[in-house]
Amino acid sequence: RQPPSSFESQHRIETQPFSKNIVAKHYNAIPVVTKRSREVSVIFGLKRFNNWIKSVLIASYTKIGYKVLDLGCGKGGDLTKWSKHQISEYVGLDIAANSYPVNNVIAQKDFKAHIVSAQFSIHYAFDSEIRVRQLLSNVANHLYSGGHFIGTTLNAYWLAKKKESTKSCKFGNSVYSIEFNENNGSSPFGLEYTYNLIGAIQGCPEYLVHLPTFKKIAKEYGLNLILNMPFHEYYKQNINNQKYNTLFHVMNVVDAKNTRISDDEWEAIGMYMVFVFQKD
Ligand code: SAM
Repeated sequence: RQPPSSFESQHRIETQPFSKNIVAKHYNAIPVVTKRSREVSVIFGLKRFNNWIKSVLIASYTKIGYKVLDLGCGKGGDLTKWSKHQISEYVGLDIAANSYPVNNVIAQKDFKAHIVSAQFSIHYAFDSEIRVRQLLSNVANHLYSGGHFIGTTLNAYWLAKKKESTKSCKFGNSVYSIEFNENNGSSPFGLEYTYNLIGAIQGCPEYLVHLPTFKKIAKEYGLNLILNMPFHEYYKQNINNQKYNTLFHVMNVVDAKNTRISDDEWEAIGMYMVFVFQKD
């Protein structure tokens, strides 16, 4: 699959992974799904909705000619979202070799981006302080001053609250399940859970992103948290913006009767959040 021709793209793969091989193995094992199999997926609505959230986030911070670094780019599903803004350069990094077909070239140390994006990927770094620092130092080193670090991840507050209200290490519904590792300690790092999302993610170990810790460490790298918001709220804030409302319908997130996102999908959507940092 070729990237859109409207921008020059360079794809590089990280050669020094800072996450466990198990994550790479997990993502390598996921087959490239066909459009048809995606459409019959029971999380069709959730996927469309999450893509809309990412599109809004990207649109809010991207200008023509920007250079973008995408950390944990996966199979390049966000390329079309970026290309719409006529960016000048795109570098995607991922530890899973079977992800987007990339050239095995190490990202140039001096590559600077206006935006560093990490969509649904930073939770893998939270298994240790070293990895979180490596992630943030990579972000800070590659961002222009004033540039933005934008992303989506799981909302640790939501997960912790849910665990408390269900009084169980395991909870979920027909589309997702979460199981916390009972041996988790009190450190803000390595708070492990396994996540299943029907038709997408099966039993992949992830880690709670302890936001106060993330914010504090990021500050040391000159990255200031300027936005963190759960998806439900981000939706409410943006859906009445005419441009994003049109996009919501163009992306066919819900049909005319609003029936495409089930209650269980809506609950699963509630566990995610967006974040934005700005570099000094
Ligand atoms: N960003 C894509 C998207 O939004 O569709 C893919 C998200 S997928 C849920 C998470 C991705 O993060 C996987 O492709 C995985 O291989 C990648 N990943 C996890 N740990 C990583 C690391 N340490 N370095 C680079 N990529 C990593």
